[in-house]
Amino acid sequence: MEILPGVHRIGNAVSTVYLLVDRDDGLTVIDAGPGRFSRTVLRYLTHIGRRPDEIRRIILTHRHFDHIGGAAALREVSRAPVFAHPLDAPQISGAEPNRMPKGPTGVVMRAVVPVAFPWQPCRVDDDLADGQTFALGGLGELRVMHTPGHTLGHCALLLPARSLFIAGDALNNFSGTPATSFDAVNDDTPLANRTTVALADLAADNLVFGHGSPILGNGRAALQQAAAKARAALGEA
Ligand SMILES: [Zn+2]
Ligand SMILES: [Zn+2]
Repeated sequence: MEILPGVHRIGNAVSTVYLLVDRDDGLTVIDAGPGRFSRTVLRYLTHIGRRPDEIRRIILTHRHFDHIGGAAALREVSRAPVFAHPLDAPQISGAEPNRMPKGPTGVVMRAVVPVAFPWQPCRVDDDLADGQTFALGGLGELRVMHTPGHTLGHCALLLPARSLFIAGDALNNFSGTPATSFDAVNDDTPLANRTTVALADLAADNLVFGHGSPILGNGRAALQQAAAKARAALGEA
């Protein structure tokens, strides 16, 4: 559904894809969902009267299966370049094994994921870098923010024209208040908490997440709350 003008959310229980639709620039896909989620994305494009060849770029926030599973299929049908941070790209492309979480969560996921969400590695065409911008026509500038911790190459995105922060899994919103992702699925939880603290004063009224409902209109206060929780977790409260 269109949650802000030109900003669409395509979600299911496992993951969420964001689609930025600009009349001049075309379509930007952010994350690709798990497994065969590309079909859901393509059906959504048809539903809003757009075509796959209008996709200009596919931006992957990080290497986890629930964000990249549909990327190879979307890249093939759109011929659009795929962007990811160089610290996560080798696991997306298959040059390195895509590591599962540590501990019991990882044991369960190693058993379940290949069966429930089979996916192919996806070639990464270009790097994402902190501070990099994409010019999206009428939607203005889309700014890349390296937000490490959940994974070391995790990147979030800021769309100032919509006062929108696209958090990926840097934050989740399972509880109604955004929070740093769970330790079991993080590469480095203290680093993830430091990233959350650094987001405290971000100028974003609207927040969207890889997991959990959007926060529209009250984003700045929510980011302050998330930072306070992260500071407490770091023992800095
Ligand atoms: Zn993740
Ligand atoms: Zn995720």
